[in-house]
Amino acid sequence: MAESRQTYQQIQSRLNNGETTSEKLALQYIEKINKSDLNAFITVLDERALDKAREVDRKIQSGSAGPLAGMVVAVKDIFSMNKVRTTCGSKILSSYIAPYDAHVVSLLEKADAVIVGKTNMDEFGMGSSTENSAYGSVKNPHDPDRIPGGSSGGSAAAVAADLAMTALGSDTGGSVRQPAALCGIAGLRPTYGRISRYGLIAFASSLDTVGLFSQFVSDCADLLQVLAGEDGNDSTSSPVAVPDYHENIEQGIKGLRVGVPEEYFRGGLDSSIRESVQNVLQAMEKEGAVLQPIKLPMTDYGIATYYLICTAEASSNLARYDAVKYGFRASDIQDLDQMYLDSRHDGFGDEVKRRIMLGTYVLSAGYYDAYYIKAQKCRTLIQQDFKKAFEDCDVIIGPTTPTTAFKLGEKVDDPMSMYLSDIYTVTAPLAGLPAISIPIGKDDSNLPIGIQITSDAFQEDLLFRVANWIETSNP
Ligand code: GLN
Repeated sequence: MAESRQTYQQIQSRLNNGETTSEKLALQYIEKINKSDLNAFITVLDERALDKAREVDRKIQSGSAGPLAGMVVAVKDIFSMNKVRTTCGSKILSSYIAPYDAHVVSLLEKADAVIVGKTNMDEFGMGSSTENSAYGSVKNPHDPDRIPGGSSGGSAAAVAADLAMTALGSDTGGSVRQPAALCGIAGLRPTYGRISRYGLIAFASSLDTVGLFSQFVSDCADLLQVLAGEDGNDSTSSPVAVPDYHENIEQGIKGLRVGVPEEYFRGGLDSSIRESVQNVLQAMEKEGAVLQPIKLPMTDYGIATYYLICTAEASSNLARYDAVKYGFRASDIQDLDQMYLDSRHDGFGDEVKRRIMLGTYVLSAGYYDAYYIKAQKCRTLIQQDFKKAFEDCDVIIGPTTPTTAFKLGEKVDDPMSMYLSDIYTVTAPLAGLPAISIPIGKDDSNLPIGIQITSDAFQEDLLFRVANWIETSNP
């Protein structure tokens, strides 16, 4: 798959010198999507994509095409798209047609990318395997009996199987990096506030970010270049200037201080993943990077802190699905209370209900101090851990996931063990930091292994530089 693939820049020059057309490319991708049995898409936007592709071809002819001209992009079904069904993986939004475009959708289209469809996902972004979708599980392209990771599993599977060149996902606690690792592609969670979330359906608002998937690191930089920046429609989007993400991407890693947290290499980590990550670290040292053992002592509290905060916020965010204004409404309703109860009972899946209950509980008057406030204090300590670590290093490197892709069905009845698969990905979001996962090889069962690079806020350019070195030198 990957071997024969070309970076977007290569494709762009083929488009510009007339070797291919945007329409041809879009058609090829749509055909592949229709043949695929991964269940990666909830909605395929074939007509809309072909119309856009023809427009892009005209613009290429006239020399007015945007920076992502002809890039075939899949978009997680958590992003609103004007006049397009937007389900968020839920039955409660099964008939919801969004009345506006998410900011990132507008930016993609303005840059002349071709959006080919809406991808499958865990309901409202809650899950680590894409088995919590009301539209069926997604299969991992490397082994159809295994999960692709989640919650953006459809986007990750689509890029890994070359059903799209790149894709958008969302990352609250790992939903881009974890599926990227398990599907063998690159996945970036940018700094909180780097990309506007206008039109991204909310799960946990203090953690949610737009995330990017690509086969190649440079494609990810191309995407971020277009999507990063302040937006008047999202007051949490940041005014920090957007750098040129390609400027230093080839600069290498000599002299770079690499923090290696001892807490990331303990029990529960597959030995094949430990070995692969250590090999890369050794190669980096050989190249002139300085390995710096560091401590992130709050790592052990990451999962508990994350699941208390995200459920609290989810219980509040999901109160809007009341069957009054939009979305699924149960039938045979006698009164208002029954309408709320039956619609939410039938419209939400088990995991969403579990989180609404847990979140309501931790926010309740009697338990607020014991759980919610405690979690907020832990969150501050986690932030301080990173702050201290970044005094001694430029980036932090470790595994993205404790295991490679597990079997479909293996963890569905054991939420705790499912939650534990996020152990390495939840702390960066709690601290608002950016992190990228890129593939570094396969285990004995030929399943992809990911490495995670974390930096201080707004240093995505540094993440790309390190990731690009690892990708191109292939240690
Ligand atoms: N797996 C995590 C969860 O279930 C992360 C989800 C996400 O990042 N959207 O909450």
